[in-house]
Amino acid sequence: MILYDVICSNDHVFEAWFADSKAFEDQRKSDAVACPICGVTDVEKALMAPNISAKKEQAAADGKDAADAMKFLYKMREHIEENCDYVGKDFAEEARKIHHEEVEKRDIYGEATAEEAEELREEGIEFGEIPWPARHDA
Ligand SMILES: [Zn+2]
Repeated sequence: MILYDVICSNDHVFEAWFADSKAFEDQRKSDAVACPICGVTDVEKALMAPNISAKKEQAAADGKDAADAMKFLYKMREHIEENCDYVGKDFAEEARKIHHEEVEKRDIYGEATAEEAEELREEGIEFGEIPWPARHDA
């Protein structure tokens, strides 16, 4: 048995059990699947979880979940500060040294100019860029 989220032509979503996906198609085509709310038999499988999470990501991108996004950035900042060495403006230089194994491999964070970041990328040095949230107490 499969549980499907089914949506009718009037946008009512309901759950229904089917033996398998073929059974759903057969019953749908023979108008045996009716919306319990309005009774229409013009129904489709509703969009499933991946689409819903994509919508959430889109909402975040739209800034609707800006508060959540900030929380996430603060968390990431905390994590980085706890686990990485701060190298300030020497970030590009240090990242290069680590890449070329001139110094012991470690996780670092710091600041780099757009030009430095571009150079690192051209040299194939991996690094992440995050929008660094300002501290409330700064
Ligand atoms: Zn309906």
